[in-house]
Amino acid sequence: MARRKLIAGNWKMNCLKADGVALAKAVASRYKAAGQPRYDMLMCPPFVLIPAIVEAAAGSGVAVGAQDCHAQEKGAHTGDTSAWMLKDAGCGYVIVGHSERRTNHAETDEIVKAKAAAGLAAGLKVIICIGETLAERDAGQTLDVNRRQLHGSLPDAATPANTVIAYEPVWAIGTGRTASPEQAQEVHAMIRAELTGRYGAAAAQEYRILYGGSMNAKNAAELLAQTDIDGGLIGGAALKVDDFMAVGEGSPK
Ligand code: PEP
Repeated sequence: MARRKLIAGNWKMNCLKADGVALAKAVASRYKAAGQPRYDMLMCPPFVLIPAIVEAAAGSGVAVGAQDCHAQEKGAHTGDTSAWMLKDAGCGYVIVGHSERRTNHAETDEIVKAKAAAGLAAGLKVIICIGETLAERDAGQTLDVNRRQLHGSLPDAATPANTVIAYEPVWAIGTGRTASPEQAQEVHAMIRAELTGRYGAAAAQEYRILYGGSMNAKNAAELLAQTDIDGGLIGGAALKVDDFMAVGEGSPK
């Protein structure tokens, strides 16, 4: 079956309100003007901008998501934000397990799985990030590391309708160094094979598996043409409207 591509922007810790709203409005109007694009679009701004970006994107069909959530619904967790709060603020998605969270906040697969479960319980779609470091790739551990992270991070309630996997080789994030289409496809094919083992072939064919790591207007089309690459999780290029839109507009039919 044809999987609808998802072009997702991870703004990370960028944009003050005026710049973020201007970016979101430009993306929203370009997406809406395109009629019914053959791809889904998502913007994931910093927490504090979410209400403004939800308003800026309203009626355009572009979804808004968050970059993280806490695993609990509420309580004494100073500085944290729950998935239920994100849903309440108008988010449709939450990213969990980004390598910057895994590295900077010591998030383990177990923590990522709990956060993903919370996102699903709150009614959000979750994007679960996995990916190997350069040292792991050089040591020939790429498939094993991604397999372990995949199974360790997937919550029991995951389905193709509510969960997206993002393969993001750590060495390609924010470095300008992109996985070759063949390198990315090899890992995506392994992920789909693991999903087949876990959920059966029909469900596995419906899961969307995104590539992330220095994806941009120039390299996106070739990556998105790979059999098992169903979209992109885009950092730097998502902050420039022309670059971000070009990824979606250039994606193969
Ligand atoms: C990301 O933040 O998930 C990412 C892939 O960043 P970049 O596109 O800048 O490498």
